[in-house]
Amino acid sequence: MNPQATPPPGTHRIVIVGGGAGGLELATALGDRMAKRGRAHVTLVERARTHFWKPHLHEIAAGSVDLHVRATDYLAQSFWHGFRYRIGEMVGLDRARREVHVAPFVDEDGDRVTMARTFGYDTLVLAIGSYTNDFGTPGVAAHAIALETPIQADRFHRRLVNACIRAHAQDTPLRPEQLQVAIIGAGATGVELAAELHKATRTLVSYGLDRIDPERDIKLNLIEAGPRILPALPERISRAADKLLKELDVHVRVGARVTSLTENAVHLASGETIAAELMVWAAGVKAPDVLRDLDGLESNSINQLLVLPTLQTTRDESIFAIGDCAAAPWVGQKGLVPPRAQAAHQQASHMVGQIRRRLRGQPLEPWRYRDFGSLVSLGAYSTVGNLMGALIGGSLWVEGIFARMMYLSLYKMHEVALHGIWKTALGSASRLLTRSTEPRIKLH
Ligand SMILES: Cc1cc2nc3c(=O)[nH]c(=O)nc-3n(C[C@H](O)[C@H](O)[C@H](O)COP(=O)(O)OP(=O)(O)OC[C@H]3O[C@@H](n4cnc5c(N)ncnc54)[C@H](O)[C@@H]3O)c2cc1C
Repeated sequence: MNPQATPPPGTHRIVIVGGGAGGLELATALGDRMAKRGRAHVTLVERARTHFWKPHLHEIAAGSVDLHVRATDYLAQSFWHGFRYRIGEMVGLDRARREVHVAPFVDEDGDRVTMARTFGYDTLVLAIGSYTNDFGTPGVAAHAIALETPIQADRFHRRLVNACIRAHAQDTPLRPEQLQVAIIGAGATGVELAAELHKATRTLVSYGLDRIDPERDIKLNLIEAGPRILPALPERISRAADKLLKELDVHVRVGARVTSLTENAVHLASGETIAAELMVWAAGVKAPDVLRDLDGLESNSINQLLVLPTLQTTRDESIFAIGDCAAAPWVGQKGLVPPRAQAAHQQASHMVGQIRRRLRGQPLEPWRYRDFGSLVSLGAYSTVGNLMGALIGGSLWVEGIFARMMYLSLYKMHEVALHGIWKTALGSASRLLTRSTEPRIKLH
């Protein structure tokens, strides 16, 4: 069956909305295993043209990873793996008619590329991820950048490079906010970004911006409302990361609640003001607003869709939700599965079996999250974390090169799911080779 063509009557139509860490792995697996064999017709609806694995966004922001080298083109991926890719943003759902509503796609110049469309489904999987949550804090939208998309991360990087070139070129003393960075939210994103920026700014300056003294002129502020950094991770990881950041002279402030942002300043509830030329909002998690009332599906206070252990939404057995946009019960533990790439990856794998069972009329199986631990990359300086599992008998503390390898293996698993072992190995080898002929950070 040609995946691009309209499916013959009677073919089971699977629509996946959102091609991120979970959705693209699922579309690729279902395309390879079912659509190519004519067992189902698979459509991925995604609002972007290319996929970039979000846990690496802070590296784009710092310039240590080039977006164009790591991005996966949806159109080519769909061609190679037997599914259909349709660009556009889901804006609504008609459960009675089993149709997803997608807005017209408009390009960067404001030209309309596609009309508003609807896609019919027999099984729908929603995988549209999450955003940061600014909790309505004034000034965030106007003055801070969030690291939610490659475009935002790339914009931050350009501003960083420009800020350094501007400071180097000017004859007057630096203004108080110049070369000052404020990162609001000390979860994994904020902490990893702080360490990555420390190294990247020093590398950038070393390429001839010799009027800047990084130790004296560049200041990184990491601001966290909670009592410690990495509040969602075990305390030992938090302590190790805090120690390293302080050794790097990153200004870590905990128990500091941000009340507003203005141009070049962060205002705290304590009355203090932190001058900053570059501000990153990396706090909180919220699923997209479109899920808040999606034709009666049940959602929670941060817009996540409530799902059963089978990953079916609570009010519609034909609609599943995976990844950050799903409030999935953590079977065997209290609470919900955390919004993490490893959860999205596991859910995507489980969904392949679920859909097969659904097509055969067999009962669905509950999904059980396996927490393999948490690793935090502190850029070139270190990686720290804990590994979990029955094989190692609970929790094992890791750091240094071994921890770095485990951290990288999470991305390798994603790459293998998208491109297979050989292509992943060849891509890794070619990146190793080109590293020696390119600047260590992106300079434009
Ligand atoms: C900077 C950063 C660092 C992180 N680091 C880690 C880490 O080290 N380890 C870890 O486990 N997790 C990490 N995470 C979390 C991890 O990235 C997410 O848990 C994971 O990406 C969730 O996968 P997902 O498929 O649910 O959503 P995503 O990967 O966010 O994908 C969602 C997709 O849906 C598309 N989309 C959104 N809305 C619509 C719509 N209405 N219509 C069509 N398409 C839509 C988006 O364009 C996107 O492609 C990090 C996140 C960030 C932002």
